[in-house]
Amino acid sequence: MGLHQHAGRLFAAGMFIVVSAAHAEEGRRELGPHVHGHGTLAIAFEGDNVQMELVAPGMDIVGFEHEAETARQKNAVETALADLKDPLKLFILPESAGCTVTSADVRVIAEDHEHHDAVAEADDTAGSEEHEDNHTEFRATYVLACADAAKVTSIGFPFFDRFAGPRALAVTVIDANGQTSSDVTREYRVLER
Ligand SMILES: [Zn+2]
Repeated sequence: MGLHQHAGRLFAAGMFIVVSAAHAEEGRRELGPHVHGHGTLAIAFEGDNVQMELVAPGMDIVGFEHEAETARQKNAVETALADLKDPLKLFILPESAGCTVTSADVRVIAEDHEHHDAVAEADDTAGSEEHEDNHTEFRATYVLACADAAKVTSIGFPFFDRFAGPRALAVTVIDANGQTSSDVTREYRVLER
């Protein structure tokens, strides 16, 4: 999806298409985990407290990464922020664990597409096209208080129902036993612990 959008914009850039396409790759590398369709979720268990941190590309959450301009786009951002503030509707924990949300902080981070290597800087003088190639991420931090966090043996992900863009979340779980990583996908949307 991200590729498609970038491709459309690059096509409009005409002769810069090849150079810009290379930059798009560069941009993804600089952003590290920011690949459209792929977010991250870190879950830390500490006693009966559970802390979660979700990072997802704006493309996944609202379908665009430029600044919201139209009423529809602004509404999409506001609705997404509101929905992300309700983590227990996006990530289903076993009822027996008795978890409630004690804090939910959600924000949109805009990351301008900046080039750091000499080749890219040289190209910046050729046109401003790639300056529009910025990215945004939705970042949410949650703190949950559970009656018995040990009963969080699986987590369901209606997150994939609410948002159409995400294809997978790279999930890291940190608890007293150490750290484990696994991918939860649109097709297999459950995390076993
Ligand atoms: Zn992006």
